[in-house]
Amino acid sequence: MATGQPLVLLYILEEGSTAPRALGRASQWWLDKSLRSLNTAVVSRGGELVLRCGPVQKVLDQIIDESGASHVFWNRRYDARGRKTDEAIKTSLKERGITVGSFNGRLLTEPWDIQTGSGGWYKVFTPYWKRVREVYAPPAPAKAPNSLICAKLKSESLESWALHPERPDWSAGFAPVWTPGEDGAKARLKSFLNSAVPAYADDRNRPDIDRGTSGLSPHLRWGEISPHAVWRAALAQQEGASLSRGAEVFLSEIVWREFSYVLLYHAEDLTAANYNRNFDHMPWRTDARAYKAWCAGQTGYPVVDAGMRQLWQTGWMHNRVRMIVASFLTKHLLIDWRRGEDWFWDTLVDADPAANPASWQWVAGSGADAAPYFRIFNPITQGEKFDVTGAYVRKWCPELARLPDKFLFSPWTAPAQVLKDSGLTLGKHYPAPVIAHNTARDRALEAYTTLKEKAASA
Ligand code: FAD
Repeated sequence: MATGQPLVLLYILEEGSTAPRALGRASQWWLDKSLRSLNTAVVSRGGELVLRCGPVQKVLDQIIDESGASHVFWNRRYDARGRKTDEAIKTSLKERGITVGSFNGRLLTEPWDIQTGSGGWYKVFTPYWKRVREVYAPPAPAKAPNSLICAKLKSESLESWALHPERPDWSAGFAPVWTPGEDGAKARLKSFLNSAVPAYADDRNRPDIDRGTSGLSPHLRWGEISPHAVWRAALAQQEGASLSRGAEVFLSEIVWREFSYVLLYHAEDLTAANYNRNFDHMPWRTDARAYKAWCAGQTGYPVVDAGMRQLWQTGWMHNRVRMIVASFLTKHLLIDWRRGEDWFWDTLVDADPAANPASWQWVAGSGADAAPYFRIFNPITQGEKFDVTGAYVRKWCPELARLPDKFLFSPWTAPAQVLKDSGLTLGKHYPAPVIAHNTARDRALEAYTTLKEKAASA
C-alpha cells in the first residue's frame, strides 16, 4: 500500500514439484472457510482476493505478466524445503528487476532471533521460554486499511478447488465447534480471556471442562489472528503489579508454539527424521490391526478412544488427550510416531508443520527436550486423574455412559452384573483392550533397552 500502486492480494494453492506437504483433509475444510472469510473482509473494503493454483514460481510469473507488478511481498515459511523454494523465487524475481520482500507473518520472533549466551539456538524449552519472556514485547498493531485499491485480475473459484468434502461430507461435526476467519478468532480470544484464564493453569489439563483452553490453535495456524495480538490481550490481564498465573501459563503455551518453529527451522527434517538419531534404532512394529483400532477410537481404552473420536468428529483434540493417545501409539502399540503424526496431519484443523511433528517427537521421546521414553502414560490412571468427572469419556464414548465412575476407564474390570446394568457387552458394544497395559509397558521398556544397546554399539 505504501507504494501507492494497485494491489494484487494473492493466495496460491501450491502444486507441482516444489509444493509443500499436501494439506490434510481437515485443513482443507478450514482453508475453504478461512478464504471465504478473508474474501468477505477484502471485498468489504473495495478490494479483491485472487486465488490461483499451481507451481508457485509459475503463478507468480503469470501474475506479474498480467498485472505489471513491480513489487512482490510474502510471509515467510520456516521448513527447509519451503525456504529453499522461496530463496529460488527471490533470486529469480530479483533477476527480473522486481523488488522482493518477505516478512514474519506468524511468529512472535524469528527462529534465529533468540540466542543462547554462546550464540547458539535453544534446544531446551524452559530457558528459551524465560528468555522470550524477558526480551519480547509485542509491537503496536498496524492499522487495518479502510479501503483497498486492487488491480483487476481473474481469480479461480474456490468451488473449483473442492476443499470442502463431498460424497461423503464427513464434516458435520466441525461447523458447530468452529468459526474459521478473523472474527471467529477474535471471538474465541475474547471469551477465553473473559472466562477461562483465571483457572487456566489447572483447568488446561482437564478435558472434561468445556472450553478450559482457548481453542485458538487453528486460528493461529491459519494466520487469522497474530500471536502478537494474543500476547497483548493476555498482558492486559494484569492483576496488580504482576500477571495472573493463568495468563502467565497461557503465554508459556504460546511460546511452546514458537519453540516448535525454532526446532523446525534448525532441525534437519522435523517431520521425517528423528531429532535424536538414536531413535533410528527403535524396533517399531507394523501392526495394521492395532493402528486401525487407534485411528478409529476402538482400542478398548476409553480415554484414548474418546480422544480419537473427538479428533475425527471435530478436527481437534484436547492437549492432555493428545499426549495420552500419542503415548499409547508409540509406547503401548510400539508404532512409529511418524504414522501418528500423519494421521493427525490429515485429521486436525490445526495441523501445523512445526507443532505437530515437534509434539509427536516430544511424546515419542525422540525430540528435543523430550519426555523420557521410559515415562509411559497409564491410560487408565491418566483418565481417572484428568477426566475427573468422566464427562469427556461419556460424551465421546456414549456406549460407556452408564458405567459407574469406578469402571469408566477400565470397563473390562467391571463385574458381569455391573456391565449388564450398564447395558454393555464387551466385544459387542465396546471392544476389549487391544493389549493389556502391563504387557505393553514391559514390551515398550524392552524395546527401549534394545534401542539403547544398538545405539551404543553403532
Ligand atoms: P491453549 O491451551 O489455549 O494454548 C494456546 C496456544 O498455544 C494454542 O492455540 C497453540 O497455538 C499453542 N500451544 C499450546 N500448547 C502447545 C504445544 N504443546 N506445542 C505447540 N504449541 C502449543 N498444536 C498445534 O497448534 N498444531 C498441531 O498440529 C499440534 N499437534 C500436536 C500433536 C501432539 C501429539 C501433541 C501432544 C500436541 C500437539 N499440539 C499441536 C499442541 C497442543 O495440543 C495444541 O496446540 C492445543 O491443544 C491447542 O488447543 P488450544 O488452542 O485450546 O490451546
